[in-house]
Amino acid sequence: MFELMKIRRTRARPVRVFCLRTQEALISEHFRMDTESSNTGKQTFNVVGLPGDGIGPEVYESARRVLAAMQESHGVNIVLDEQLIGGAAIDATGSPLPQHTINACKQADAALLGAVGGPKWDNNTAEQRPELGLLKLRAEFNLFCNLRPIVTHPALHSFSPLKPDRLENVDLMIVRELTGGSYFGKKWRDDDQAEDVCRYTRKEIERVTRAAGRIAQQRDGRITLVDKANVLETSRLWRTVASTVIEDEFPGVAMENMYVDAAAMHLLTRPADFDVMLTENLFGDILSDEASMLCGSLGLLPSASLNEKLFGLYEPVHGSAPDIAGQGLANPYAMLLSVAMMLRHSLSLDQEADALERCIHDCWNEGILTKDLRRDGFSTLQITEAVCERLVR
Ligand code: NAD
Repeated sequence: MFELMKIRRTRARPVRVFCLRTQEALISEHFRMDTESSNTGKQTFNVVGLPGDGIGPEVYESARRVLAAMQESHGVNIVLDEQLIGGAAIDATGSPLPQHTINACKQADAALLGAVGGPKWDNNTAEQRPELGLLKLRAEFNLFCNLRPIVTHPALHSFSPLKPDRLENVDLMIVRELTGGSYFGKKWRDDDQAEDVCRYTRKEIERVTRAAGRIAQQRDGRITLVDKANVLETSRLWRTVASTVIEDEFPGVAMENMYVDAAAMHLLTRPADFDVMLTENLFGDILSDEASMLCGSLGLLPSASLNEKLFGLYEPVHGSAPDIAGQGLANPYAMLLSVAMMLRHSLSLDQEADALERCIHDCWNEGILTKDLRRDGFSTLQITEAVCERLVR
């Protein structure tokens, strides 16, 4: 399924970077170590842009400008096809995920999303909620593998609530199963009871475990499977299936089991000890937001959601932040790091991804940060311009 590329070190301190590669269709169960990882031809890529709601359009605009600068600096030709999703789509079409948006994604190499949701739509019926647009997009394209890298940077240690010595060398990849579990299970409610069914199949566990196994092979070869196997039957199935996949197919990878309550604690007490954290949908949602605090702000965390053909939805981990929308306060770095993940994993533009990440880290080193991180911080537009300037320098 996933074909992984070589590990490279791109920063002052060793950071594990891995690449996922598109095959024409499926998706060999084995992967190849390539020696040359970048797409050298100057081809045109089609990316669906999904600005969404709240600060979504603001961080999306930042990404649009940075991609335009990248065209100038690196000759990268990415055609952005802007489409509706979330609350904006409900207002315009009555649906949080219009068919037009789905059709556009079917033609695209990747999709880049700002964020969806906001108080305007909070009292809508379940079918008219902005977040449903995102859930439907994940289901429609079978985006079962969610990657959330948690990498601390020395220039940002002081913004984390954790002590700086705990943040040294934190480089963790959370692999979250994204299309199963209680988020997608049968739901019902009456006045006195409610139920959300958490169901997982062997196949769902196997495919995301294989993705985690391949990623671990490119890193330190260690997976922590996070579950609640002392209580939940689904967790016990996860343990059985995941351990079989790793033992049978990834002899160089070690897997340990950890209960989710313990994992929540160890993420704060010894975060640098984790390499790849594999977990189900609900636990991954919660743990990745907790882990975001290691980096200093929710506004710094990118994500990728991939299917077996490596079509990817790239988006910041944060939501639409209605409390700061429209004020130029949104931190665009999570979105820009998501662009770097898109360049690397769906478009095979490794050198360009590296260049963008370098510009972002240069900005961090120079204290070019938004107000969520420093009181006298810069605006979304100023940060965007700073990154663009460094790209075209
Ligand atoms: P949120 O992530 O939008 O905001 C949480 C806090 O972090 C807020 O104080 C916000 O101002 C701050 N914040 C978030 N992103 C920031 C950024 N880039 N720069 C600076 N500060 C930032 O989460 P929430 O408040 O729980 O949810 C708001 C809305 O977003 C809800 O409607 C929710 O359903 C939706 N949501 C959408 C997504 C998504 O689109 N993927 C994810 C989570 C939440």
